[in-house]
Amino acid sequence: MAYTKRFDGRGFEEIRKMSAEVGIISRAKGSARFQIGDTIAIAAVHGPRELHPRFLRKPDKGVLRCDYDMVSFSVSERKRPGSSRRSMEISHVTGKSIEPVLDLSKYPNTVIDVFITIPQANAGTRCAGICAASLALADAGIPMKDLVVAISVGKAGDKVVMDLTKEEEDHAEGATDIPVAMTPRNGEYTLLQLDGDISKDELKEALVLAKKGCDEIYTLMQKTLRDSFKEKK
Ligand code: ADP
Repeated sequence: MAYTKRFDGRGFEEIRKMSAEVGIISRAKGSARFQIGDTIAIAAVHGPRELHPRFLRKPDKGVLRCDYDMVSFSVSERKRPGSSRRSMEISHVTGKSIEPVLDLSKYPNTVIDVFITIPQANAGTRCAGICAASLALADAGIPMKDLVVAISVGKAGDKVVMDLTKEEEDHAEGATDIPVAMTPRNGEYTLLQLDGDISKDELKEALVLAKKGCDEIYTLMQKTLRDSFKEKK
């Protein structure tokens, strides 16, 4: 059956309502909250600081360590607390998607820790986490070549759609989830995952949507950082 109207009434190319803020955690060097629809991500940055245990240190560069976790009340069924294969995978790909914009050679023997917590989840949490982490790193004053911006696109039923909700991911006719992260200035992908089926032409269409979504998020992220720098002055 054709998917003619989105469950939440949005247009197929429409992103959910977003908001962002930085400097929300006083003990962290940098921090941010990024919300997209009902999905909320909070990120805190600590470091660069000495890396322990010692054998993990790299004498020529710093280590970026990302830790992603969903709290147990973030989803309707209680999520089992603690690490899982899913959270380890998301922590790993988050680090890989952010590392290209950092010059870690400036910080030998140290670690930059990025803690990402999801207090509320309705799909797209890894992408929201990447946006929050990127904002928190900028808030921490870590030099970055660009921000990293992320959005999930894909297919719900027979339609290519922007920014899927959990309800759409669970679509009875099948859904495809494509989390994408990119550096908006040069349009390079730093993350591209695909869960589901999609044709080559539909994938091309979805990636055009991802670029559009990332541009919208980039505008919000830039404004959030500009406003916070003005406040600090
Ligand atoms: P992402 O959140 O990046 O889209 P997934 O595709 O793995 O990553 O998860 C999709 C959504 O499924 C999550 O955003 C969340 O709403 C829900 N979800 C993930 N893990 C659980 C869980 N353990 N219990 C209930 N819902 C979950």
